[in-house]
Order: sequence, then structure tokens, then C-alpha cells
Amino acid sequence: MPETKTLTADAAPTRALNVTVICPDCRSPTPNIIEEFASGDLVCGDCGLVLGDRIIDTRSEWRTFANDEGDDPSRVGNAANPFLDGAQLDTVIARGGDGGSGLARDLNRIHGRSTAQRHERNLVQAYKEISALCDAYDLPKVIGDVAKQLYKKVEDENLQRGKNNDAIIAACIFLACRQEGVPRTFKEICALTKVDRRDIGRTFKFLKGRLGTESGVTSSDDLILRFCSNLTLDMETQRIAELLSQKAKDMDKIAGKSPVSIASACIYMASHLTGNPKDAKTISSIAGVGEATIKTTYKILYANRVALITPDILARSAKASIDNLITP
Ligand SMILES: [Zn+2]
Repeated sequence: MPETKTLTADAAPTRALNVTVICPDCRSPTPNIIEEFASGDLVCGDCGLVLGDRIIDTRSEWRTFANDEGDDPSRVGNAANPFLDGAQLDTVIARGGDGGSGLARDLNRIHGRSTAQRHERNLVQAYKEISALCDAYDLPKVIGDVAKQLYKKVEDENLQRGKNNDAIIAACIFLACRQEGVPRTFKEICALTKVDRRDIGRTFKFLKGRLGTESGVTSSDDLILRFCSNLTLDMETQRIAELLSQKAKDMDKIAGKSPVSIASACIYMASHLTGNPKDAKTISSIAGVGEATIKTTYKILYANRVALITPDILARSAKASIDNLITP
């Protein structure tokens, strides 16, 4: 009589080798158990009782017709890489295998010209470098992943044009470290990547504003809300500062500035505009950004005041007047 599937804890290990699955309903000594792969069920062939669900299909995922192509992998390759576009199921044309006619090589070259493939290859190459650098420096895996995400964003938004690729990779790692709260100085990242310090600095500055990083999701708007309430500024001034920063972010000269400097300078401008002026020193102490930085950023805003302070902004507050602004 065969054992049933359910073994008790005191069952001798030798008996466990003779376990047979039988249908508890039919109790037939010659069970006719069928694996229904389509539904993942284990079914009794005599009465139709489902004995188990979610069985794993261990059969090959594809059919092989070749007898001579070496091993027969019954499983497909790696899981899809989330850092690459698509499912990476593209066609690859081998270079050889055409009997020396050169046709395969030509096809390979033509195929390789498609921009999609080149883009993917660049990404793979950059990811390899990022991983190698992070490994070399014992940075946690999450830093590498965030750096890869940032790099992908740079590529997707076509920000890499005219930039040194090594500097972009270095800047992405630096940004990732900052974002994940793993502080590394420019000096350390320079030593790691062997990229010139000024080059990383410039690229970092360029990317920082555009990738919307800087300690997670902080944007100028979040900062303005917080700073204005700490400065006890009224709602109208806060709203004007927000509108100013939204407009300012699109300006070429402002784009490279950090969200904190933009927010501070916009608050500085808005507070003067509405006649509750806060000096740079007060804002500096709240925002944690240098007085000089606020003033230089304000200088750019002031120079563009006509384009920046549109009638709809002035209409937000009865007291607002462009004459209230001070010359930087
Ligand atoms: Zn049965």
C-alpha cells in the first residue's frame, strides 16, 4: 500500500523515500495523476479532483530543432534589465556563418547602425563603468542603481550632448551619493573616476538642476513653502515667489543654480516686490545658503525683471510694485 503525501513528523526517513501521491478520494493504488501545466494544477485523472495548484512547469521554454548546436538550454536568459528600454529581445546578427561571403558582416554593420541599438550599447557600456567604479570604491549597490537611473535620465533627455562622458558618469555617482545620503566629496569622486575636478563640478552643476535631484524630491516649490512659513511671509508673497521660481527655472542663466539658491532669490525678490522686504542675511540664515549666492542669483533675476514679473504676478498682491525692488 503506498504512503499518502501527508507525512507525520515521526515518520522514519527511510519510509519517506517511498512517498506516492494518491487521490484521497479514489484511493486507487495505481494513481492516475495528471499535471495540467496550462492551469498549473495537479489533477486526478480518474475523478477530476484537483490535488494541488501552482505547480511549476519544468519543461523547456522552447523547442530545439538542432542536433549539432551544442548544449540545449531549456531555460531562457537573464531577467529583463530595468535600466534598459524594452525587453532586450532584439535580433542580433552574427558576423560569421555565411561561408566567407561577407554578407553576414555587412548585415551586422547595417543593423548596428540603427540608433536604437547604438543607444542601448552606450547605456550598457556606461552601466558597466558605473558598476565597476562603485565596486572599486565599496559603495552600496543602491548608489550604483541610482547612478544608473540618473545616467539613463541624462541619455533620455539628451543632456549629454557636448559633455565628457566620464564627467557625466562621475557626476551621476556624485549625485547618487548625495541623494542617498552617502556623503562623498568632489575630491573623493575625482580620485575614484580620475576626472578633472572642475569638469565634474561643471557637469554636476549642469545636471543637478535638470535632474530634479538634490536630496530626493526637493524642488524649489517645496523649499519656498517651507522658507516662507519660517520667514512668516504672507500667502501672497509666497505665491508670487513660487510663480517667480517657476518662470526663473526656464531661464538659461538660472538653470544651473541649485533649487535652494533659486528659491532664496525668488523669496528675496517677492518679499521686496510686495513691500515686506526680508534682507539677504535673514533669508540666508533660514535657507542655509550664502548671502552672496542669494545676491548673485537675485542679480540675474533683477536683470530679467521685465520678462519675469508679468502683470498676472503683480495682480496677486495689491501692494506689489516693481518700483519696490532694490537695485543689486
Ligand atoms: Zn480521484
